[in-house]
Amino acid sequence: MNRRNLLFITGIILMTFGWECTNPSATIKDTRFLLGTVINITAKGDSYNETKDAIDKAFDEIARLESILSKYKENSGIYNINNSKDKAKPIKIHDEAFGIIKRSIEFSKLSDGAFDITCVPLLELWGFAGTPVLKTPDKNGIRKVLKNVGFENIILDEDKKTVSLSSNRMKIDLGGIAKGYAVDRAIAVLKDNGIKNAIVDAGGDIYCLGSKSKNLSWNVGIQHPRDKNKLISRISLKDKAVATSGDYERFFVIEGKKYSHIVNPKTGYPVEEVPMSVTVVADDCTIADALATAVFVLGPRDGIRLLNGMPNVSGIVISKSGKEGYTVDLTENLKGKIGFKF
Ligand code: ADP
Ligand code: MG
Repeated sequence: MNRRNLLFITGIILMTFGWECTNPSATIKDTRFLLGTVINITAKGDSYNETKDAIDKAFDEIARLESILSKYKENSGIYNINNSKDKAKPIKIHDEAFGIIKRSIEFSKLSDGAFDITCVPLLELWGFAGTPVLKTPDKNGIRKVLKNVGFENIILDEDKKTVSLSSNRMKIDLGGIAKGYAVDRAIAVLKDNGIKNAIVDAGGDIYCLGSKSKNLSWNVGIQHPRDKNKLISRISLKDKAVATSGDYERFFVIEGKKYSHIVNPKTGYPVEEVPMSVTVVADDCTIADALATAVFVLGPRDGIRLLNGMPNVSGIVISKSGKEGYTVDLTENLKGKIGFKF
């Protein structure tokens, strides 16, 4: 090798090394427990410190939202509404909480009342919120409690950002939408902090930003509803959200029978195996989360019809059929594009 070539090669090595020193990209994964679930954030940034800092800020954002949106956090707007002695009296809440309640009501209207943040009295009757129950609620009890369920009875004052409820027995719970919103906000914080590729997973409410690497996209597995070690399908996502509502992660047992934690606000009963899981892909996770819960209540036929009528939304509904059988219903835009292995 002559001197010129040697210098040239040394130059390239130094350049590469120098770039690596100032610009070593880093992929970091971190996990925290917030919003009652395990939250995983994986982000790829230009340096370890920058990426770590962005992830910490994203978790701080989720913790901030938990303090505003959780019905369990004392002095959150939701806590104050639910624990007010006089619910007709308007209660001032945080702008963001107000915004989410407003969006929740839009999803209630869109789903003909299947999605309803006022279903708390039903959740309490079935022991899904607070104290578990030993006996299956009877029809009479359900009928009585249903009188205190209804999104139409939430009164909002847009100017003052206040909320009041038309019955003292009403309560609200953002459990079907808040995680999706928190995922969207975490992604916004990551982006603001220079991250272009990341995945935020809040217990099955997921947003995939960019891609995993130059040649690999983010893949999300769809879990078998009755075998947690088995994936029945995989979908690749880029700048999209996916949320799953299922009866297998969170459920309750009353008199030996398993019940899902999602209730039908029309009948007063929990959804029973039709469907077992609903996965919705959408442009943001707030939409995906609320729609997954709504479709879980609507069931395969009406649920898929709702999703087919919406732009940029796809859905997978898995329902029990027969003894060990499953049926899969898909939105039109997924037909022929996705396979399943049971
Ligand atoms: P997960 O919390 O398991 O991800 P979901 O996003 O579907 O599942 O939210 C379920 C939660 O939403 C319940 O735990 C409850 O707090 C609330 N919920 C139950 N039924 C309804 C309903 N019909 N509409 C809106 N929220 C509901
Ligand atoms: Mg949901």
